[in-house]
Amino acid sequence: MTVPATKFAQIPSVDRVLGLPEVRALFEAHGRAIVTGAVREVLADMRNGKDGIAIAQAVRETVEARARPNLRRVFNLTGTVLHTNLGRAVLPEEAVQAAVSAMTSPCALEYDVDAGGRGDRDNVVEELLCELTGAESATVVNNNAAAVFLLLNTLAARKEVVVSRGELIEIGGAFRMPDIMARAGAKLVEVGTTNRTHPQDFENSIGSKTALLMKVHCSNYAVTGFTRTVAESEVAALAHARQLPFAVDLGSGTLVDLSRFGLPKEPTPAESIAAGADLVTFSGDKLLGGPQAGILVGKAEFIRRIRKNPLKRALRVGKITLAALEAVLRLYRDPERLPERLPTLRLLTRPQGDISRQAGRLHAPMQAKLGPDWQVAVAETMSQIGSGSLPVERLPSAGLSMRPLSKSPGTRLKRLEAAFRALPVPVLGHVREGALHLDLRCLRIEDEAEFVEQLDGLSC
Ligand SMILES: *Cc1c(COP(=O)(O)O)cnc(C)c1O
Repeated sequence: MTVPATKFAQIPSVDRVLGLPEVRALFEAHGRAIVTGAVREVLADMRNGKDGIAIAQAVRETVEARARPNLRRVFNLTGTVLHTNLGRAVLPEEAVQAAVSAMTSPCALEYDVDAGGRGDRDNVVEELLCELTGAESATVVNNNAAAVFLLLNTLAARKEVVVSRGELIEIGGAFRMPDIMARAGAKLVEVGTTNRTHPQDFENSIGSKTALLMKVHCSNYAVTGFTRTVAESEVAALAHARQLPFAVDLGSGTLVDLSRFGLPKEPTPAESIAAGADLVTFSGDKLLGGPQAGILVGKAEFIRRIRKNPLKRALRVGKITLAALEAVLRLYRDPERLPERLPTLRLLTRPQGDISRQAGRLHAPMQAKLGPDWQVAVAETMSQIGSGSLPVERLPSAGLSMRPLSKSPGTRLKRLEAAFRALPVPVLGHVREGALHLDLRCLRIEDEAEFVEQLDGLSC
């Protein structure tokens, strides 16, 4: 049923459209109210002069667009493995099962089953965290920004925190160390210069108002050349000589030395604790490969004070997060098998040869789909880890590059990018030097058939 827009008399009534068998068929899956709303919308479009509408089809498309979840699955072929905008770490099956169980059944979240009384939700993961980091105590909040905020607010409100100028980081979004300090009520004392900070810079800045010495991991940049930083053990010694605590914000919290898997080395919380840090904060969903969380480990005395801060209640994590985090931490007890079991590590250690072979398999279907106006090539590329982890290191990878051969390549590239985003499972790549690049590191072999199949719907 197609109605020329000019002929208002021919625009059918809502009831008539609802009577169409193709439209009625939508009731069961979507409910009458949603279908009726969609019919009204389509008829309004027709009244507003939109031409050549096939009513039943337009209603179905409207209903389906509304039924689609907003938080959609995507193919992350951007070349950034831990992409903050795409949800960072993908969780292992063990974490999924634990989260499902926590969601579908009552669980001993704050209940000590052995003693039969009230417990603390931190107990779910504290022992594991202590075992894996060598710390005395641990607590968990919503994300690492919250962990840093809570630490500063608890230990340094109305007092001074000494940090090197070279470490006053800004993480994508709104995490800037000086701003977090101010909101936490602490006064930032910057020492040293951008490229060089010496032990005496810390020493000279300690006064009666000093509450804390702090080091912040340069997660998303590197200071190279003529540089000097003060090692954690040196700052710890300076702090402890004055009876002050020393805290480290590590950002990414890998619990094992990644170099054993052939990856670049990233500092671990265990190393900071061993170097004398009283508190260490890190994220759950960066290199650790778990759910979004902020983890604080350290001396029992400080963790106890942090738990007593009323803000802890406002920043705490829910049972779903704790269940997933516990399951991920348990995997770390068996480091040998981590690269098979932890998706983040599996993706980061995926060999370039394996990715290249996948690119080889996808080349022909992609070229066939795009046609002679596009040059599709298998290309070596470099993935980045992302989320402020190992900022300067790149991992050799491979993918497909798609270059327009005709005129106005810029417009055509934009259109191709949009066409990939419009697929049932949106495909996200990145445009660089006149081509669209799809880094295949994060395309799982088991998703390859689906990826190829949906290329049929690519309209460019
Ligand atoms: C990522 C990062 C943060 C923020 O952590 P979120 O988990 O994103 O809140 C804070 N500090 C450093 C050094 C980081 O790398």
